[in-house]
Amino acid sequence: MKSTELKRLKDALATLSADECLDIKKVLRERENQVVSSVVMKEITDGVDSCPHCGSKKIAKAGSKDGRKRFKCKNDKTNEDGSLVCGKSFNALTGTPLARLRQTEKHIEHAQCMVEKMTIRQVAKKLKIDIHTAFRWRHRFLESIQHMQPSVLTGVVEADETFFLRSYKGQRTGIPRPSKKRGMPGCTAGLGPDQVPVLVARDRSSGETLTAMLPSRKAKDIAPALLPRLSKDAVLCSDGASAYRVIGKKAGIEVKSTPAKKAAGIYHIQNVNAYDSRLKAWMFGFKGVASVYLQNYLGWHRLLDKTSLALPSKEFYSAALGK
Ligand SMILES: [Zn+2]
Repeated sequence: MKSTELKRLKDALATLSADECLDIKKVLRERENQVVSSVVMKEITDGVDSCPHCGSKKIAKAGSKDGRKRFKCKNDKTNEDGSLVCGKSFNALTGTPLARLRQTEKHIEHAQCMVEKMTIRQVAKKLKIDIHTAFRWRHRFLESIQHMQPSVLTGVVEADETFFLRSYKGQRTGIPRPSKKRGMPGCTAGLGPDQVPVLVARDRSSGETLTAMLPSRKAKDIAPALLPRLSKDAVLCSDGASAYRVIGKKAGIEVKSTPAKKAAGIYHIQNVNAYDSRLKAWMFGFKGVASVYLQNYLGWHRLLDKTSLALPSKEFYSAALGK
């Protein structure tokens, strides 16, 4: 835009009424999404350096299709019968969970909706897509994100389990008990089979947090979720559950136990408790999450709970692409 035009626009903006301001904000927001979207798409496209099918670095640009730049693999290796090993076409999204989703131009806006934790209905309305598409997009966007866990927890690491009511929401067959209306209490008292245990382990200095669904609270089920991401020299703090002592003993990791809610020097689990409260409050807004998708929601919350999301929609989108 020319500088004289920009000045005229600014002068016009200076005369807006309150209602007109709201209108203009909407237009600006849409434009911002478009701009960010094309910047992100360009970055991703510029970053393509090999074929996602065979890994060859010999690739060439091959025009565009549906607004996405295409590439062609130029790997010249041949099979025994003389046919090419690869030679396939691809775009920047090939090989990512978002590869087959259409309307790429709405992806960034969708990421923004997820940052704002909009419901499926709200997303469908805002992006003018149907409910089923909105549902599919949500879970496709979370496919990579649910696997993103901190690589290593070190120093003082707090660990505890939290629980979510087992839910068969949206499932019509194969439910092992009579259906239950939303808000009804669980059928079994306490921590029975109606509760899904989730491990929460937090590195106190970095704030990195691991959350994972567990088959049970037993040491044999906690260990495979925790140990691969726990530094050998970490000090593990727990509320005194024997499972952690068993795990620590086997893996040679120091374990400090404190009774729940009691602050005993530096070996407490208050950071995990605080994380758990934030997670529960965040989940509450969804009015019951189907247990088959709980892992996706845990990943979604982990990403948003990081305070470093400077450009949220862009970072969320990159994470969804697994980058
Ligand atoms: Zn190839």
